[in-house]
Amino acid sequence: ERLVSGGAEDVERAAEAALRPKRLDEFVGQRVVREQLGLVLEAALARGRAPDHVLLSGPPGLGKTTLAMIIAAELGTSVRVTSGPAIQHAGDLAAVLSSLEENEVLFLDEIHRIARPAEELLYVAMEDFRVDVVVGKGAGANAIGLALPPFTVVGATTRAGLLPAPLRDRFGFTGHLEFYEDEELVRVLERSAGLLGVDLHRAAANEIARRSRGTPRIANRLLRRVRDWAQVRGDGTLDRAAARSALEVYEVDEIGLDRLDRAVLHALCVRFGGGPVGLTTLAVAVGEEPETVETVAEPFLVREGLMGRTPRGRVATTRTWQHLHLRPPPSAPT
Ligand code: ATP
Repeated sequence: ERLVSGGAEDVERAAEAALRPKRLDEFVGQRVVREQLGLVLEAALARGRAPDHVLLSGPPGLGKTTLAMIIAAELGTSVRVTSGPAIQHAGDLAAVLSSLEENEVLFLDEIHRIARPAEELLYVAMEDFRVDVVVGKGAGANAIGLALPPFTVVGATTRAGLLPAPLRDRFGFTGHLEFYEDEELVRVLERSAGLLGVDLHRAAANEIARRSRGTPRIANRLLRRVRDWAQVRGDGTLDRAAARSALEVYEVDEIGLDRLDRAVLHALCVRFGGGPVGLTTLAVAVGEEPETVETVAEPFLVREGLMGRTPRGRVATTRTWQHLHLRPPPSAPT
């Protein structure tokens, strides 16, 4: 697992759960979403009814799962967790829906990956609080409508654009999570350090935040690695020097690039003269799957202006050459 990827591995889930903010006022940053969501929840509580369904979109590790848990906590109810890939048949979803209790929150992670037949079932459940269960087979099959208690779906997706319009329309509120500012990540880190019982110096927090790609999950992960370093190689102090040394060991550079990112940029500049080069060719050059390069390395590189995407392929930018301390050939596109 890459240290700087936004996704989480299973082994990490427990460590993450311990650092998860439990209430809306502990949730750092995302001012707009926090305020809008706060209103939705407060109004629902005042009316004594389940709020509209909520869709949260944004890259991995920015707090979608955390917000789903917070929504349930603020409403004083429990949350059921499942995900698009876990729902391959309509029956899988029918089973979850028919076991929901009144006002419960159903968290559907990666909702864009839900199977087509289950999607139809979800539309009806979200709109009419009803699930149609087919009993019997062939000519004798019968659809029986089962009434469901009111509940709230919280859907999370990294790709809101992939959701079919009818599904998107069934959400009364959509919140888009943005990457965090360094200052906000410092607050996330200080809060986490408090929970972990470690004394994190401000300069170390700045150093970690700067290399965390705007992502709290990465910030918390790097904090744990810096703590390891301080414990094993240092004197336990989490100061700037400890942070820098630890991140060097883990090959996370000044702006949060890791070995794969740098390999991609290096191949782009050195082997392909700055491009344009196709994604597959580039991936083969660094010994990775095209999908890994496209979903793991590329989004951040493009966002940081370290790589350009053109119809003819990926290209280096002025910044790419600068970051690698290389001089572009006269023919290079920038
Ligand atoms: P994925 O879609 O990959 O599951 P996610 O967007 O659901 O990612 P979370 O699991 O909610 O991300 O968050 C990852 C970690 O980052 C959690 O451990 C959580 O503690 C921390 N975190 C996320 N957002 C915040 C925040 N605003 N304030 C404090 N901690 C946060």
